[in-house]
Amino acid sequence: MIPSDTPLLLVITAAGSSTRMGTGVKKEYMTVNGKTVLSTALEAFLNCASFSAAVITVPSGKTAEAQSAVFSNQAIQPLLNRNNTRLIFTEGSTTRQKSVFNALKKLKESLTEKELSSSVVLIHDGARPFVTPEIITGTIEAALSYGGAAPVIPATDTQKIIAADGTITTHLQRSSIGCIQTPQGFDFNTLYECHQLASEQDKEYTDDTEIFDAFRKNKSMCVHVVKGSIQNKKITYREDIAGKGTDAGRGSSMLRIGFGTDLHRLVAGRKMFLGGVNIPCDKGELGHSDGDVLLHAISDALLGAAGMGDIGSYFPPEDPQWKDADSAVLLSRIWDDVTKAGWSLQNLDCVVETEAPKFLPWRDKVIDSIASILKTERCRIFVKAKTNEKLDSVGAGEAIKAYCTCLLTQEVQG
Ligand code: MG
Repeated sequence: MIPSDTPLLLVITAAGSSTRMGTGVKKEYMTVNGKTVLSTALEAFLNCASFSAAVITVPSGKTAEAQSAVFSNQAIQPLLNRNNTRLIFTEGSTTRQKSVFNALKKLKESLTEKELSSSVVLIHDGARPFVTPEIITGTIEAALSYGGAAPVIPATDTQKIIAADGTITTHLQRSSIGCIQTPQGFDFNTLYECHQLASEQDKEYTDDTEIFDAFRKNKSMCVHVVKGSIQNKKITYREDIAGKGTDAGRGSSMLRIGFGTDLHRLVAGRKMFLGGVNIPCDKGELGHSDGDVLLHAISDALLGAAGMGDIGSYFPPEDPQWKDADSAVLLSRIWDDVTKAGWSLQNLDCVVETEAPKFLPWRDKVIDSIASILKTERCRIFVKAKTNEKLDSVGAGEAIKAYCTCLLTQEVQG
């Protein structure tokens, strides 16, 4: 049980840049079940205990963005009101350690000595939205008893110490190794003093437990661990929240497939184009444009997946300006629009049905050509050819047909 008169303080760090996410959106501002990661973490703490003040560290000049990420969650303001919690946004710094110290200084100048005395401060990563009430309560209780506390989960992989040259130098016993999570809880005044001493050193410490251990004067205090949870993971990669009703999840799970097909008559006196490559043949596709069935099937598949129409609506065949048009140029324009709408190509898979000419010798060139039109890697493209066993118009050599399926994904837009 946490004594009801214990002053509780909270620091949430969200001043980092999230470069590993690769989404263009700061990870703390992505959404989980309709709420930002940052506000979900804050909500968990405000729901669980009565904090007198909470400080959120934000990147320099980005306070308004952080405020909007927090207050877009409708649950926050009522929770702040309920416990009369002061919420302060403060600019972080170049390192996590400096950001935390900035936040502690902010608490020091915003609260009275009385409010700070025997208070417990929790330091939490803004990118850990799934912190549980058990972890929060357990950390506060242990911090009250021992002066410092942090949640721990057992190491699942065997840990080694590795030298700069890549050699393993020490084989650690897994049973005595723990992975430390946040929130880390401390007696406020002791942690503040430790950070002040640490800031005078020319060294960066791994976390607040190390700073507390290194500089605490009261040696009767220690950092005691409490049971953490694998659920309380720090979001580092997009996959960490994929599939959890998130923007990031949609980024990787917003998949759209497309399908396109096209058929053109084969006639003498026309050139045969497949995938933008002129393939020697005694016949070629009859068409208003160059008649490249493969590029037309690809165009329809891409437009269909993106929900942006079809090639006929883009380039009406009755429009004289598309007479003998280079289908590679048409596809390139379509793809420009599709990518501008935020879509990326995962892959496309095509089939060409034709009796002649032999396609296999041309396959590599055709794949290269399509990859070049779509400005993508050739490993995303595949084309195979079939004959039609002499059946139907394709089998009779009167027509050529192409099919394409594609998979598009959409990036997170913030
Ligand atoms: Mg066509």
